[in-house]
Amino acid sequence: MSRLDALYQQLILDHNKSPRNFGKLDPYTHYSKGFNPLCGDQYEVTLSVQNGVIQDIQFVGTGCAISKSSGSMMTDAVKGKSLADALALKDHFLSMILDSGTPIERPMLGRLAVLEGVKKFPSRVKCAALVWRALEDAVSDCQVGQTTTE
Ligand code: ZN
Repeated sequence: MSRLDALYQQLILDHNKSPRNFGKLDPYTHYSKGFNPLCGDQYEVTLSVQNGVIQDIQFVGTGCAISKSSGSMMTDAVKGKSLADALALKDHFLSMILDSGTPIERPMLGRLAVLEGVKKFPSRVKCAALVWRALEDAVSDCQVGQTTTE
C-alpha cells in the first residue's frame, strides 16, 4: 500500500469515527439537503454566512464512511472562508475526484487531496462529491434547496 493510500484510509476512518462539525446550526442563513440514491447517503448542510464569509457550517445525516468523512473535511476546509473562496475550493475538489482535466491547484486543496483516492472507485466519487454539491446548492440564489447526485 502506498503512503497516500495509507493516509487516505487513516483519514477516512478517523473522520468517519468522529466527524467534525457534525450537527445542524440553529439559526442558519443557508441550507441544503443532499441525497445520493446510489449509496443512500443523505445529509443536511447548514451555514451561517455574514458579510459573504462562512462563519460556521455544519452537516448532519447518515451515509457511508466516504461521504461522512468528505463532509467532515469539507466543513473544516470552508469554515472561515469567503463564499467565493469556498466555491473555488469546491470546483478544484470536484475536478480532482472527477478527473475532469481541469487544472487543479493542489496547494489549495491541502489535506483534501487525500480524497483523490476515490477516483479508483467510481461508485464512491458521488459519495465524496455529495456534501460539496450540497454546499454549492445551499449558497446558490435559492437559499433552501435540495440536491441529488443523479
Ligand atoms: Zn456513500
